[in-house]
Amino acid sequence: MQIKNQKQFMNRRSEIIKELLKAIEFYGELGFEYLPLKRAHIMDSLAKAAEVIKEDNAVSYQHEEANHDVHNKEKALRRLREEIGDCQRCKLSRNRKNIVFGEGSPHAELIFIGEGPGKDEDIQARPFVGDAGKLLTKLIVKLGLKRDEVYIANIIKCRPPFNRSPEEDEIAICKPFVEKQLEIIKPRIIVALGKISAHALLKINIPITKLRGNFFHYNDIPVMPTFHPAYLLRNPKDKWLTWEDMQRVLEKLM
Ligand code: URA
Repeated sequence: MQIKNQKQFMNRRSEIIKELLKAIEFYGELGFEYLPLKRAHIMDSLAKAAEVIKEDNAVSYQHEEANHDVHNKEKALRRLREEIGDCQRCKLSRNRKNIVFGEGSPHAELIFIGEGPGKDEDIQARPFVGDAGKLLTKLIVKLGLKRDEVYIANIIKCRPPFNRSPEEDEIAICKPFVEKQLEIIKPRIIVALGKISAHALLKINIPITKLRGNFFHYNDIPVMPTFHPAYLLRNPKDKWLTWEDMQRVLEKLM
């Protein structure tokens, strides 16, 4: 380009300065401390910058993946609850007030599985909120955890009349839902509270006194059977045994 007069010359000069400032800024952002003048140096530095950008992207992709996982679990649990709907699949639906789905962190490492809702749970639609629930919450806190950091659910989601034990057909119909919860949450350890929960998860029929304190497996997830909190309310002298079982759980979680 031919520069014809002083004004044009000044305009061109300020354009060049602007371009140079942009270039300095650009290379500065790439980590240059001085402006490389040889093409080979520029190409070399650009290649290094591209590597850094690639690594940064990989890290943020991993963050995105983790976030995605968390949202997926929440969404999957919500979908499962919707799928259960106003369940009429078994006879317990006739007398229940509410379905007690389960609650807690969707990414819990520790999950407690009880038997089925009692009176208070049926009224509040929340698991383990009665006297047995208060004892369970105390135990969780004693372990150094918060109730909302773990997940709490039951083998069956509706209260049996007069708190009787769930019958085989009721367990068979409802168990797929707790199995799905476990599949979504993928906890590191399951604590089976009481014999109904231990028997249903482990498909064995051995007394809880023999099972407790030993790890078993449910789909490769370690399961610690222990006494049901309602049993411990009736037999407080056995609380220390459950405390021992929980120490084994804590050790495994570490
Ligand atoms: N007992 C259970 O097994 N589950 C509850 O949610 C409450 C009491």
